[in-house]
Amino acid sequence: MALKDRVPMPQQDPRLRITNFDEVALGYTEEQALAEASRCLQCPNPTCIQGCPVGIDIKSFIAFIQQGKFTQGYYKIKEKNNFPAMTGRVCPQETQCEASCVLAKMGKPIAIGRLERFLADHEMYKPQQIETEKKNHIPVACVGTGPASLAAAADLAKKGYEVHLFEALHLPGGVLSYGIPEFRLPKKIVNHEIMLLSDLDVFIHTDVIVGKTYTLQQLRREFKSIFLGTGAGAPLLLGVPGENLNGIFTANEFLIRVNLMKAYRFPEFDTPIKRGKEVVVVGAGNVAMDAARTAKRLGANVTIVYRRSRAEMPARAEEIEHAEEEGIHMKLLTNPIAFHGKDGWVQSAEVISMELGTPDERGRRRPIPIEGSNHEIPCDQVIVAIGTTPNPILKHSTPDLLVTSHGNIVVDEHYQTNIPGVFAGGDIVTGSATVIEALGAGKRAAIYMDEFIRGA
Ligand code: FAD
Ligand code: SF4
Repeated sequence: MALKDRVPMPQQDPRLRITNFDEVALGYTEEQALAEASRCLQCPNPTCIQGCPVGIDIKSFIAFIQQGKFTQGYYKIKEKNNFPAMTGRVCPQETQCEASCVLAKMGKPIAIGRLERFLADHEMYKPQQIETEKKNHIPVACVGTGPASLAAAADLAKKGYEVHLFEALHLPGGVLSYGIPEFRLPKKIVNHEIMLLSDLDVFIHTDVIVGKTYTLQQLRREFKSIFLGTGAGAPLLLGVPGENLNGIFTANEFLIRVNLMKAYRFPEFDTPIKRGKEVVVVGAGNVAMDAARTAKRLGANVTIVYRRSRAEMPARAEEIEHAEEEGIHMKLLTNPIAFHGKDGWVQSAEVISMELGTPDERGRRRPIPIEGSNHEIPCDQVIVAIGTTPNPILKHSTPDLLVTSHGNIVVDEHYQTNIPGVFAGGDIVTGSATVIEALGAGKRAAIYMDEFIRGA
């Protein structure tokens, strides 16, 4: 019998969606979810589960969908993941659970992420059944409110601890709030999944920079254990001539202005943003795709410049496809070497063509400049999205804290730093990774924090 195709995700028409910031992927209906779930073979040895960084029992939640038991399916996911509406939208499933599905060999893995999102959206606004242990009134702290700290906070609160989250920005959520745009991850979803934490008596303190407002040592005196989930939010720059010209932004600044500060709704919101006409985005990860698609929605003609080929682009496959559908140009095997301008404003990116050489230590072929291939791309705005690194504030104010030469916090196999009782996880430990990996680290650290406090 021929294997049925995956049920496509309904989505906004590309011509319409480049004129708004509404969500692109619209989510399955019940009928579509049942049809997609019916493709699952319910394998005796479900390989999909091994592909999930937090070990969600994928086979069982899909079985519940097959039976129309959506509530049970939702709680099956929540056994391992408190934030399925977010991960169902942003996880790189094609390299994780879906890559491990037996049907991936035939090119038609079950659309696990879409089914996860379906259940989360179906059940999210209903009263939640959360099992918690008796309150023990022991105070613990999580620094940062990205997925790593949120996951740690949720699990510690369920174990009965009094959890305090400290966030440097004025809103919680980390990259989920300030980085990933509304058209991929609506903020009402982020806010709702964070709001569910308050039902667990988690206290969120915003506008608190740990390392400035309070030192880590001060917090350590107040709290029995601390989790550091401060992410890797400081942008990297190209370091080429002309990078300081006006009109050149880091993706961080650009996305924070537009997403968190709602610059796309200026003057209704106070934050202005430059609306470029010809925009060059440097990089090809999720951040670059988000910046390019955001600039497109602000009215620009956008070109992504990337030094390797399409096969090496690190962004989620769906984001690359969506960017192409939206008319974003891809100038591959090309790298900026300088920016030129007039009266202080950028006017062009000088780029050089590249070819791919032997693989590097991560297995990706090295880009090599082709001598004499320099040429210019006219532009009035450039957005640099080539990666991020940890913010050094915490390290500067805590000289004892052990970090790597890149500034990432060093932890042992129990997520504990070299300071007893202080744990860490997420991007601050691994460098830029994924939402689900950060969630997984937060959850595992919570187990060890509990053991530490109980003296186990
Ligand atoms: P973060 O989410 O970075 O949160 C850290 C929080 O700590 C921030 O809120 C920060 O303000 C706060 N903080 C920092 N220092 C302090 C301090 N000293 N005191 C108090 N608070 C502090 N991953 C995916 O899986 N799928 C995607 O589609 C995807 N898209 C992305 C798009 C963009 C634009 C970006 C930037 C990243 C994307 N990622 C994606 C990566 C993913 O978002 C991160 O891996 C994940 O958010 C890391 O979580 P975290 O909790 O470690 O840190
Ligand atoms: Fe279903 Fe694929 Fe998991 Fe098998 S591996 S149980 S087909 S999702």
